[in-house]
Amino acid sequence: MYANVIIDRVSDALDHVFTYAVPEGMDARVGQQVTVPLGKTRADGFIVELTKDCALDAARVRPLLGPRFPEPVILPEMMELAKWMRGRYNCNLVEALRLMLPAGMRRGRVHERVTRVARLLDPNAVVRGERQREIIARLREGDVEAALLPSAPLRSLVQKGVVEIYGRGERRAPLVLRGETLPDPPLTRAQERAVSEVCAALEQGGGRFLLHGVTGSGKTEVYIRLVRRALELGKSAVVLVPEIALTPQMVAWFHQRFGADAAVLHSGLSQGEHYDEWQRIRRGEARVVIGARSAVFAPLENLGVIVVDEEHEGSYQSDRRPRYDAREVAWQRAQAAGAVLVLGSATPSVASYMRAMPGVRPENRLVLIELPERVSGRPLPEIEVVDMRREFERGNRSIFSAQLSEALRDCLEHGRQAMLLINRRGHSSFVSCRKCGYVAKCDSCDVSMTYHQAENVLRCHYCGAERPVPRKCPSCGSPYIKFFGVGTEQVVEEVRRQFPGAAVLRMDYDTTRKKDAHAQILDAFRHGDADVLVGTQMIAKGLDFPNVTLSGVVAADLTLNLPDYRSVERTFQLITQMAGRAGRARHPGRVILQTYEPDHYGIRLAASQDFRAFYLRESAYRRGALYPPFTVIARIVFTAKEEEAAQNAAKAAEKELDEFLDRGGHRPDIVQMRALECPVKRLRGEYRYQVFLKMYFKADTRQITARMQALAEAAEGARAELEVNPTNLL
Ligand code: ADP
Ligand code: ZN
Ligand code: ZN
Repeated sequence: MYANVIIDRVSDALDHVFTYAVPEGMDARVGQQVTVPLGKTRADGFIVELTKDCALDAARVRPLLGPRFPEPVILPEMMELAKWMRGRYNCNLVEALRLMLPAGMRRGRVHERVTRVARLLDPNAVVRGERQREIIARLREGDVEAALLPSAPLRSLVQKGVVEIYGRGERRAPLVLRGETLPDPPLTRAQERAVSEVCAALEQGGGRFLLHGVTGSGKTEVYIRLVRRALELGKSAVVLVPEIALTPQMVAWFHQRFGADAAVLHSGLSQGEHYDEWQRIRRGEARVVIGARSAVFAPLENLGVIVVDEEHEGSYQSDRRPRYDAREVAWQRAQAAGAVLVLGSATPSVASYMRAMPGVRPENRLVLIELPERVSGRPLPEIEVVDMRREFERGNRSIFSAQLSEALRDCLEHGRQAMLLINRRGHSSFVSCRKCGYVAKCDSCDVSMTYHQAENVLRCHYCGAERPVPRKCPSCGSPYIKFFGVGTEQVVEEVRRQFPGAAVLRMDYDTTRKKDAHAQILDAFRHGDADVLVGTQMIAKGLDFPNVTLSGVVAADLTLNLPDYRSVERTFQLITQMAGRAGRARHPGRVILQTYEPDHYGIRLAASQDFRAFYLRESAYRRGALYPPFTVIARIVFTAKEEEAAQNAAKAAEKELDEFLDRGGHRPDIVQMRALECPVKRLRGEYRYQVFLKMYFKADTRQITARMQALAEAAEGARAELEVNPTNLL
């Protein structure tokens, strides 16, 4: 028997299998982690395949040294998934496999924590010492941790064979709710229909759905029922959420309903906790896994369901190598396992919704299921659009329109809560001189610095660099330094100025850097410790606060005008999500949207909550302008200390790619290809250039991106990285 092993080191030279002989008596299995000889040293690796025969000269094949753990750490289907990822994301097999294991385990740093426990072997043993008799008496009632017993008498009991010590694995896993799990509430009609349609597919071996449910329509309950059905059928389930810290309610709901059957995987876990949760899943003790992006790799056997909640969120795409998209991986994994895939959202991405339209080929198709109404039966709150240009004409210089101030007052007077979204942290987005136009920019990045009042510094939001606030213009010496643009801090300040009695909480990157800070802020707000919650997009996620009756978008234009083809889509999503926060329970809600562009289709259609009209308009725009999902964008980003080095590397790659496209006959499928500087040319003190390529959907993207990957690896004088449809085009 021979084993083809991939070495656990990220290196292109090692990205192929090495063949070893399996020693006599070893129970070798695919996915096992093994130690092998490699040159003059030894290395760890994973068994990728087992074969009876070997094409190589058998005499030259060395035996592998043995397994690291007896059980395979990678399930066979996950090995297949890793191979698929290698092709899809141009990564090494090992890079894909590493995503499937807890980090600490692979490096051999964490092991199961074992507690030494004493057990009575001979209950009738007669012993002399009093302390030994006491131990026996205690052990008659049950096993006791060895550390809790006096050690000398215990040792002599063990020597006599009266007591034995064994190791017991102990869970470090976080939050397990024990005790009663909550009963299921009766479903609404729409939920009932959705559940039965998806469950039918589950029973028939798979299907793909897009669950489009307005905010408050009870999508979570649909997921829960579906997961429950999967468990009844002896299957397992994965539920992906954009960010665990921002979705504490979802996690709590799953714990309440599934108890210890549910496991949570996320980046906030310690290595030990992560390892234990992973083991619990691997052993089949927890069959429901909730987690962010990487939970799509949970080692579940017999998978029945994968749910991707808030599927439109950018966080499902990894921004580091391997640059995988968890939705695509979920799609692939579900298909291979005969499982059901459910993508859910109140504002599906244009790309996903397109797949749910008629005329899509069956292999690309999502079945659309709609939940058009809120569970509570309440209508969606109406969105009042305020034209900020009018406010200015009327002489209102505040960042709050008269309408927003009035609504806040009304809300606070009635003892209700408000949420205000401003999608920028800090106080003012830029600082400039009124006299000469000087703008404070970061020394190492091509961006203006943001004023942070709390620490009284200027900060770069790209690299984190800080600088004191200038009193005089560094360029012309004039004292007329002005702060422009709004951020979270300024909104908090304005609430305090207008409503001195109100308690305000701020939630943004700056206030949530400490562990558990998210949960603390959200809990405080839920318990009514604050009247107003001001925050960035963090507060727009699926939070459910019954006492919130006012939701305000302070400056919708901030996201609308970003230089990215998705900026309108993101603005629409953000507005819809914010509108969904208000009036979820008994009291009707009010939503106020401030903008300088009330006639923009993104704003108008968000205000009328017309997703279908928005989709049609947006997809027409994308089709006309040749943007994804009608095209595929791929780029190689070259980074170097010297501008010339980055530029030259990009030019050289452009030339090679150009020839390749001609040679391979790809030219007709290419919309655009060129080398140019990145929109943010300097970042963290380095220069950035790119080879940017846009191709039609029908192009042989796999072959073209593989070539681009090879060019990235061959780059000289600069670091280079391939990105396909990146979330961020800066
Ligand atoms: P969505 O994710 O679609 O915005 P949620 O799943 O957050 O909606 O549900 C909104 C609220 O409705 C939650 O408080 C949830 O507990 C409640 N809910 C959902 N389904 C039901 C039901 N069938 N009966 C009663 N309450 C429900
Ligand atoms: Zn000046
Ligand atoms: Zn910077």
